[in-house]
Amino acid sequence: MKRYRNRHARIIATLGPASSDQATIRALFDAGADVFRLNMSHGDHADHRARHAAIRAVEAEVGRPIGILADLQGPKLRIGRFAQGSVEVRPGHRIRLDMDETPGDESRICLPHPEIFAAMEPGTELLLDDGRVKLVIDETDGAVAVARVIEGRRLSDRKGVNVPNAILPLAAMTPKDLRDLEFALEIGVDWIALSFVQRPEDVTELKGIVRGRAGVLAKIEKPSAVERIDGILAAADAIMVARGDLGVELPLETVPGIQKRLTTKARAAGKPVVVATQMLESMVSAPVPTRAEVSDVATAVYDGADAVMLSAESAAGGFPLEAVATMARIAMQAEHDIVYDALIHARDEAAGETIADAISAAARHVAETVRASCIASFTASGATALRIARERPDTDILVLTPNLDTARRLTLAWGLNCVVTPDVANFAEMVQSAGANAIEHEFARPGDRIVITAGVPFGTSGATNILRVAIAPEPGQRTV
Ligand code: PEP
Repeated sequence: MKRYRNRHARIIATLGPASSDQATIRALFDAGADVFRLNMSHGDHADHRARHAAIRAVEAEVGRPIGILADLQGPKLRIGRFAQGSVEVRPGHRIRLDMDETPGDESRICLPHPEIFAAMEPGTELLLDDGRVKLVIDETDGAVAVARVIEGRRLSDRKGVNVPNAILPLAAMTPKDLRDLEFALEIGVDWIALSFVQRPEDVTELKGIVRGRAGVLAKIEKPSAVERIDGILAAADAIMVARGDLGVELPLETVPGIQKRLTTKARAAGKPVVVATQMLESMVSAPVPTRAEVSDVATAVYDGADAVMLSAESAAGGFPLEAVATMARIAMQAEHDIVYDALIHARDEAAGETIADAISAAARHVAETVRASCIASFTASGATALRIARERPDTDILVLTPNLDTARRLTLAWGLNCVVTPDVANFAEMVQSAGANAIEHEFARPGDRIVITAGVPFGTSGATNILRVAIAPEPGQRTV
């Protein structure tokens, strides 16, 4: 088994009608996809079950852990229907909003969400259809409102509604999310993403149901989540900069700065951060991206994002393989550019104060000082591997774990190359296993130095306390 990725940034590919069969999923993996996303906003459980089975079949074929992320739709708000299917909403007009399910018309929109009426007051802004239609509330009695149209165009049935400047009294998960969550946990996924997180408690609620069976990723796409990012980062296992809805809820020009701040904060916390949406959007319908898109992907890589994500490009576009391969080439080139080292460490923050933090920071320094070929890290839960990834070392990281679930979950994280291998019982076995795996997976050649981290007593989780430098063995020799 050889090493298979020559880059640190990971790629998430959303699956959909353009990418559902096993042969295509295998080709997407070969092109560079590390994690596959099942988007619960589209498709039914039978579709997702089939894609899940195909991913696991590819995983068995290639003998590498592959991550699966189930993305819950969250409390996505929508207007009701119109008698004619759509209406023209003109700037300057006043329009009535109510909860009556009767189809609307030019003068009335059905807005079937008491939570929005509960939160609105004169001056509240409502954005419909990804912000293409903008309304401002003039009057409301809590059940019926009159709004002024600020920006208008044709508006059709069931378009989305965003209320950017209010915290809505919404449950973190809808009944559909709870059904999707139960389904995702039953088939066995590695990450659950929660959409429209408003507060840290939304994440805590999801974690209470998941109970460690998957990692929990908070999608940051509301101003209230940006404001509460410290609490959300503390509660979640990872975050996503979900630039699609973020760019509706906040002025578009604020999104790049938010992306940089969220990336910096997540890296400091040692939690994976994913940059998502429209990264190679033009590749939905063309085999080559725009120059600006190439620059956008490279920027996320230079900022040290753990993963970059494809949505429609891989799920519904005409060129899913080209999109993944292009993303992989951009990431690899960025990481080999001479500016990369300076940029990736430009905003480094000091490590935490735990023993595992100290060992992880030391592992990076020792490995770089003695020019080790790799850092081999033994981990059961994956926590130590994430701490080493947090350091963004120049040295390759080889993660050795007896736990397949850990290996699958870590596929989302920067630079972690995971191998499932039996636990070790003593120092000799630790050094032997690290050396043999480093050689087998092409992270070291015989005679190279390798830096090993592990925990004693062996086999206990959360006990990393050892740093050891060893020499990779010559054929037939034991590691020393
Ligand atoms: C986003 O809004 O950027 C996002 C990733 O979420 P979704 O694709 O579910 O809209």
